[in-house]
Amino acid sequence: MNHSKNLVVVRVHEIALKGKNRPLFFDQLVRNLREALRGTGVDVQRRHLRVEITLGQESVWDDVRDRLRQVFGVVKFYRCHKLSPSLEAIKEFLSEEMAGHTFGSFRITSRRGDKSFPLTSPQLNREIGAYVQQLIGARVDLLKPGVNIFVEILPGEALVYFQEEAGPGGLPVGVSGKVVALLSGGIDSPVAAWRMMKRGCQVILVHFHSFPLLEGTSREKAVELAEMLNRYQLRSTLFLVPFADVQKEIVLSVPPAYRIIIYRRFMARIAERIAREQGAKALVTGESLGQVGSQTLENLVTIRSAVELTIFSPLIGMDKQEIIDEARRLGTYPISIIPDEDCCTLFTPRHPATRSTPEEVERLESSLDIPALVERAVAQAEVRRFATEKAVKSAIIQEPRG
Ligand code: ATP
Ligand code: MG
Repeated sequence: MNHSKNLVVVRVHEIALKGKNRPLFFDQLVRNLREALRGTGVDVQRRHLRVEITLGQESVWDDVRDRLRQVFGVVKFYRCHKLSPSLEAIKEFLSEEMAGHTFGSFRITSRRGDKSFPLTSPQLNREIGAYVQQLIGARVDLLKPGVNIFVEILPGEALVYFQEEAGPGGLPVGVSGKVVALLSGGIDSPVAAWRMMKRGCQVILVHFHSFPLLEGTSREKAVELAEMLNRYQLRSTLFLVPFADVQKEIVLSVPPAYRIIIYRRFMARIAERIAREQGAKALVTGESLGQVGSQTLENLVTIRSAVELTIFSPLIGMDKQEIIDEARRLGTYPISIIPDEDCCTLFTPRHPATRSTPEEVERLESSLDIPALVERAVAQAEVRRFATEKAVKSAIIQEPRG
């Protein structure tokens, strides 16, 4: 066998693989990997409980590695050498590979995936370890080895590699169905949308803006956030919904302290309409309990009572700092902190009512023609679609609706 390093093995969570969902999970993962790696010339195939990627040429590895770090469902991956499954072949390979190298310490990490192989993992570790020790003169250090040598025995082949890369974990986008996320220009909602993607949801994004009553920065931020989030789900749809008309109506009949709560109820209703149209089964927001006056327990309940669909808020139990840390890691933070004028600040006081009830808010809404306002906002929405990251800039298309 040749020793080319063109094989990349992708490992998934064994736990996600139990039972009936296994084919669904793998088919989606393979589709997503092919999509994420489009243009790199690689071949992606499922093999048993793993996925194998064959690089056309070694030079694409850096690019492939960066992309694999963003594909949900990937727990870890490694570029490896494929050998015959024998101790002699492994020793011979290591002596060639390590010729001329010096290192102070090492460890062998063996896995016997093929139980018919005559040596157990501890026996392999000892045999290969003794060989490397004699070859290089290095000592074994299990905790902080200078070089880590991984050996995996599979039916018909042995894999040797020196470095494991971490994937993002989670479930392949698509296996959990569709949701609609309310995406403001802020820090929290992009993180909430990302968390749902990580659990396998295809996330449709909806942004409300008060352009031209307010300047259009939040809209531009929503587009940039969608581009960033799209790296993780590969295909996205963003609805940009004009909200100023709805707000003007609300302002006419609702006292200031209740306006923000009623804005939120309308956002939920409009998002619910879009969700039903798109076949999405739930809504998602970036709310975190008690973070601001509009997110007291009472107000969260009042907002939810406006719609039938379930509203998930994956950040509900997180502190602001925890959310910021996650926004930094996933890349949305620098976009979120660009100053903008959020539509919810329009005609609202700094301190909203914190103890609303659904009944009193329904009374305040009673003079509004709710279906008509929802209908009109949905009809005026501008739709943008995003394809795979590399092609995003050129692939944004706008569809007129009406
Ligand atoms: P974020 O950082 O996501 O803006 P926040 O802590 O500022 O959240 P709010 O501004 O109270 O919280 O908004 C609560 C949630 O309502 C947001 O996380 C988002 O899901 C939704 N939301 C608020 N404003 C908008 C908007 N203009 N467009 C779409 N969704 C919005
Ligand atoms: Mg906000």
